[in-house]
Amino acid sequence: MTEPLLEVNHLKKYFPIQGGIMQRTVGHVRAVDDITFTLNKGEALGLVGESGCGKSTTGRTILRLLEKTEGTVKFKGTDLHELSRKELRAMRPKMQLVFQDPYSSLNPRINVGTAIGEALVDHGLVSKHEIRDRVKEILSICGLAPYHIDRYPHEFSGGQRQRIGIARALIMNPEFIVADEPVSALDVSIQAQIINLLSDLQEQKNLTYLFISHDLSVVEHLCNRIGVMYLGSMVEMAPREELFARPLHPYTKALLSAIPVPDPTRKSERIVLQGDIPSPANPPSGCKFHTRCPFAKEICKQQVPKYEEMASNHFVACHFAGEF
Ligand code: SF4
Repeated sequence: MTEPLLEVNHLKKYFPIQGGIMQRTVGHVRAVDDITFTLNKGEALGLVGESGCGKSTTGRTILRLLEKTEGTVKFKGTDLHELSRKELRAMRPKMQLVFQDPYSSLNPRINVGTAIGEALVDHGLVSKHEIRDRVKEILSICGLAPYHIDRYPHEFSGGQRQRIGIARALIMNPEFIVADEPVSALDVSIQAQIINLLSDLQEQKNLTYLFISHDLSVVEHLCNRIGVMYLGSMVEMAPREELFARPLHPYTKALLSAIPVPDPTRKSERIVLQGDIPSPANPPSGCKFHTRCPFAKEICKQQVPKYEEMASNHFVACHFAGEF
């Protein structure tokens, strides 16, 4: 059996809450609360959930842009959180992040050629006279023209800027990309183009993705496996077809019911969740979803449901998984 590219084990990321005159730690925001999964080479895993559920923090803690609180993150067998700064820097080109808003991640005073090529220069991966050729090649791969190399961020549309963001990640020749809401700031028609680009690149370069989105319909086309997060915890994870055909967790069912059905003869029953997502600083007891779950029973308030494999590769955390 081949070793997974990424192994995340019992990962936790808590942020301290300071209070009082002494600014002591009076509590913690449990942004990521005991998450475990593996990712094989060439796989695309979608991570979905409402805003504030901890999916972006999960992505950033995996890449060690944030320090973990507990748990391990192994990339090709190496624990990223045990590496020295120098070792981590040497590993960085293999793991890249694509941001939600490429405009804010691009310096308006730096042209695209420099923005895309600067990391290559920093890491000394190519000689100076090779950089322009490499950048032009990556621009073409990402559906932009080689002459765009001398233009500035404000001269591009939102979709083109996201292509620049992808080119910046891709030029490092990564194996693993965390794409954090890469299309949510774009118009629907442009979203499809970027998803298609990511899908083509995955095939050409055998890339592995962790694709973060609040929208299940966005991950549906790109990801072969989907994980659903609620309040810092993974509540369900399954291969795409299985998750869409047989969701076992009430929260996943509610998210799926919000996707519009294009066929007017098919009626879909929308499950509307009551109330807001609770604070991760003070999560509900037992099943964290019980305050909004239409099927909650007494046991749900008292006991944390186990995250268990209910069918092949289909994991869920619910006392009554699949019973409704
Ligand atoms: Fe709902 Fe209970 Fe299942 Fe939680 S454990 S999702 S509250 S039925």
